[in-house]
Amino acid sequence: MDRIQYEDIARPANGEAVSLADGITWLRMPLPFSLNHINLWLLRDGSGWVIVDTGVDTRTSRDVWKDTFAGAMRGDPATHVIATHLHPDHVGCAGWLVQHFGVDLWMTREEYLLCRILVGDTGNEAPDEALRFYRAAGFDDKQLQLYRDNFGMFGRVVGELPQSYRRLQDGDLCSFAGHDWEIIVGRGHSPEHACLYDRTRNVLIAGDQILPTISPNVSVWPTEPRADPLKDWFDSIDRLEAALPDDVLVLPAHGKPFRGVHVRLEQLRKEHKDNLDKLLETASAPRRAVDVFDVLFNSAITDSNRVMAAGEAISHLTYLCNTGEMLAEQDNSGVRYYRRS
Ligand SMILES: [Zn+2]
Repeated sequence: MDRIQYEDIARPANGEAVSLADGITWLRMPLPFSLNHINLWLLRDGSGWVIVDTGVDTRTSRDVWKDTFAGAMRGDPATHVIATHLHPDHVGCAGWLVQHFGVDLWMTREEYLLCRILVGDTGNEAPDEALRFYRAAGFDDKQLQLYRDNFGMFGRVVGELPQSYRRLQDGDLCSFAGHDWEIIVGRGHSPEHACLYDRTRNVLIAGDQILPTISPNVSVWPTEPRADPLKDWFDSIDRLEAALPDDVLVLPAHGKPFRGVHVRLEQLRKEHKDNLDKLLETASAPRRAVDVFDVLFNSAITDSNRVMAAGEAISHLTYLCNTGEMLAEQDNSGVRYYRRS
């Protein structure tokens, strides 16, 4: 099988699609965020297409999809919709697409179930557990009120998922148009993220598990406050390194396709290890999660990214507590302080 010559292919414009290889089409979907696009993939499947990831559920996304149905998909139907993981830019239009084509949704179980819960939270009040979690992180009353006000945003850009789905599991083989795609599950960025690996053509649909220029968010969330996603993330890097050849063509959800996955995985590992080292260096005095933002992040933390920053800070602090290098103590007002053990 010929190596895919992607190097000659210009990146599609926002809302446009380009054929990357026989039976693999790259659709660049606009996003209404500072990260302004997501790469979606169309895989030929008989006389139809498998849609991998979907964009957020907005009018713009649906308009791009309608153009794509007639354009890149040549009027042929979707045969399945796959969501690599539950984040809104990946799963937002999944419910609409499966309904439009009358097809099934393929996801891993943890992603599907958690996504159903988060969509179901839309319009609810922020739970006490979540407010306690962010108070422990060091949020002040104004920041907690903002969290309350924004709670339940998830479902505003994610359409309702179908009531049943088809489960993807690590090691599954999905065959589309004679090409076998192996499911490799990664963890840490989301609970059970599916990557799709075509060993024969040496190409990987990586979702957010491996990105070329940005480091995927690895966060603790209030639903599981004692989770250790950074450990999961490091374990997944080890697994992906062992499973993938260095020259695999990586098709990431953001940025451009690239080769050299071992170098990139090592960079992602090192970035977090460096942050852990920096946290330890500055941890002689007790600090709250919000006090270590300046250690972990180069850019300013504002109302729009404080929740993500807190999640990422807590994932690093939790990792160090679990390795025994740090200790955490909660004071009488419920605020959690971390220091070197
Ligand atoms: Zn994601």
